Amino acid sequence: MCLLRYSAKHYTPLYLHSCRIAFLASAGINSEHLLAMTIVINDTLIKTNMDCIFDKIIAGEIPSKKVYEDNFVFAFYDIHPIAPVHVLIIPKKHIESINDLEEGDVEIVGNMFLAAKKIAFDLGIAEKGYKLLVRTGRDGGQEVPHIHMHLLGGARLREDIGPVK
Ligand code: AMP
Repeated sequence: MCLLRYSAKHYTPLYLHSCRIAFLASAGINSEHLLAMTIVINDTLIKTNMDCIFDKIIAGEIPSKKVYEDNFVFAFYDIHPIAPVHVLIIPKKHIESINDLEEGDVEIVGNMFLAAKKIAFDLGIAEKGYKLLVRTGRDGGQEVPHIHMHLLGGARLREDIGPVK
């Protein structure tokens, strides 16, 4: 685990990325040290796991169709949509699943829901309604180990959750 401290009023994933590279080069840190990293910016703690596909999307290392971003949250269209509107809302802090949430994460979770509401209004599905889905672990069907809220809408959606036969 390594700790980076920055002081920056306005920061973007790209800015973070360039700071990270500059810092690492000067400190002689190699890619193995990057597996787990904690970044603190203006006292906001942002954990990143550089192996995580969603952290790479936040950093702009993997392209995505961004829908929304604030200090806590990043949202983008799912690459394999299962509804006419299918957006993923993820925390910028690397948290693997609901099981890993801590009391200090309350603000992040609250902002994920507020982002869902904002996106639903922006995309014109708020009035008719939508579904929020957060899978957790194997039985929940979670594939990507970084908390993500699926925002699903744009049509009446089925309710066919049940045990796998
Ligand atoms: P879950 O099964 O709940 O873990 O959902 C993971 C979701 O991430 C799936 O709906 C995938 O289609 C989506 N996904 C995986 N990789 C990407 C990507 N590069 N861009 C957008 N969505 C992705």
